[in-house]
Amino acid sequence: MSDLDDRRMRCPYCKERGTLQPLEANLMMRRPGYVCEKCEGQTRAPGSRATLVVGSVLGAGAIVLALFMVYASIQVGGDLDGRVYGASMFACLGFTVLVWSLVQFSYPEPLDQPARPSRLWLYLLVALGVLAVLGAAIFGFFYYLHEMM
Ligand SMILES: [Zn+2]
Repeated sequence: MSDLDDRRMRCPYCKERGTLQPLEANLMMRRPGYVCEKCEGQTRAPGSRATLVVGSVLGAGAIVLALFMVYASIQVGGDLDGRVYGASMFACLGFTVLVWSLVQFSYPEPLDQPARPSRLWLYLLVALGVLAVLGAAIFGFFYYLHEMM
């Protein structure tokens, strides 16, 4: 996305062209969206749907995984504090990502955004990679429980 593309897009609220200002980068995204300098309406990033879907799924998955970790820890017994603390940090992270994705979904995308090549395969690849890491984490967790008990 160039500055020229930014100026071509229209605000989804007041339909004005060239009023959208890019928002500051945050922890989640380099280009989180735009704010209209005329009506102060906020938009999400153009073409961000796939990212937000992946974010929602991973966030929800992390919460489920954290609950599962606590459940497994209780089943096994022993010292719970460290593991519950780890699981709750994991759940907080998942919750943050999930809420942020859902908030972004509530903002409209800018109008007249330039057509861009689909990068869905890239997101799928990233999602698969993260799932593999999560799978390894679950395996490692149970290996740890098994070996330490
Ligand atoms: Zn506007």
